[in-house]
Order: sequence, then structure tokens, then C-alpha cells
Amino acid sequence: MLNGGTVFEVTCLRCAMRFVVDRIRDEEARAMADHLRERHPELRVGGASALGEVLDHYRVTPMDPDDVPPPEAA
Ligand SMILES: [Zn+2]
Repeated sequence: MLNGGTVFEVTCLRCAMRFVVDRIRDEEARAMADHLRERHPELRVGGASALGEVLDHYRVTPMDPDDVPPPEAA
């Protein structure tokens, strides 16, 4: 079971790719920027883009943790 915190569903506004995070750390921000560069190069998201710029292309929605399946161990 998750340890009780709110989690967030992050949805790409362009293609509806979704993932679920408990918070947005450097790793998540990098994955989000990588997705934009790979799938939506027309957005011209650079390697050093600010998180705020990356987040402009996503919708972030708080979710009830009970609705989320446990994450796979990476
Ligand atoms: Zn996308």
C-alpha cells in the first residue's frame, strides 16, 4: 500500500499520455521533458527547460491514493 500521501495524475495535453507520481522531483520532471522532446518536438522543449515550462504542457490532477494501483518496483 502507498504510504498515505496524495498522488498526482500527470496527463500530457497533446497526446493524453498519463502517468502517476507522488511528487514531481528531478527524475519526474526529466521524464516529462523527455516525453515532450521525443513525441512533440514542435514544442521545442529544450534540455534545460524550466519545470514550469514543461508543466505548461501537462495537466496535473490530485488523485485519491486508494484509486491507484501500487507502483511496480523499478
Ligand atoms: Zn504527449
